[in-house]
Amino acid sequence: MKTKILVSACLMGHKVRYNGSEKAQISETLLRWQHEQRLVTHCPELAAGLSIPRLPAEIVAGGGKDVMEGNARILESDGNDVTGHYQLAAWLALRAALASNCSAALLTDGSPTCGSEVIYDGSFSGLKRAGMGVAAALLREHGVQVFSDNQLAELIAWVEAREAEERENDSV
Ligand code: SF4
Repeated sequence: MKTKILVSACLMGHKVRYNGSEKAQISETLLRWQHEQRLVTHCPELAAGLSIPRLPAEIVAGGGKDVMEGNARILESDGNDVTGHYQLAAWLALRAALASNCSAALLTDGSPTCGSEVIYDGSFSGLKRAGMGVAAALLREHGVQVFSDNQLAELIAWVEAREAEERENDSV
């Protein structure tokens, strides 16, 4: 069975980032996967009703898992608490992944929603720290393999290994 992958919309060239930009990283493999209808392109923040443009937001004193458990907050740069919007964004990303049978996700790193290796440190000073955004944390908690946009090679290797194993099991 073809592996389905949830992909951050901004990575596929959609101008959905907080400042109206995209972060397109459309490699040959992603184009092929798109052609093979393996990709589910999704922006959790947009799905949750956040606007374009919107103020930058950062997780304060914690990571995505803490936010989802109610132990940390997400603030916009003007101090507005948008925790609820981002929690909803995470649940909608999970729903999109499960509804389409996605077993993996390729997400834009650094985002308070999609980040999976690093996030901003909550001081709005441009500093990053190790951590996950809300959607990445929730997807991982529910068994979806999450890869950052810096880990495309790892994702390709993971998909190939998974499908080789499936073919082997089918032939027995
Ligand atoms: Fe990109 Fe994710 Fe931010 Fe949407 S929420 S703009 S998909 S990083």
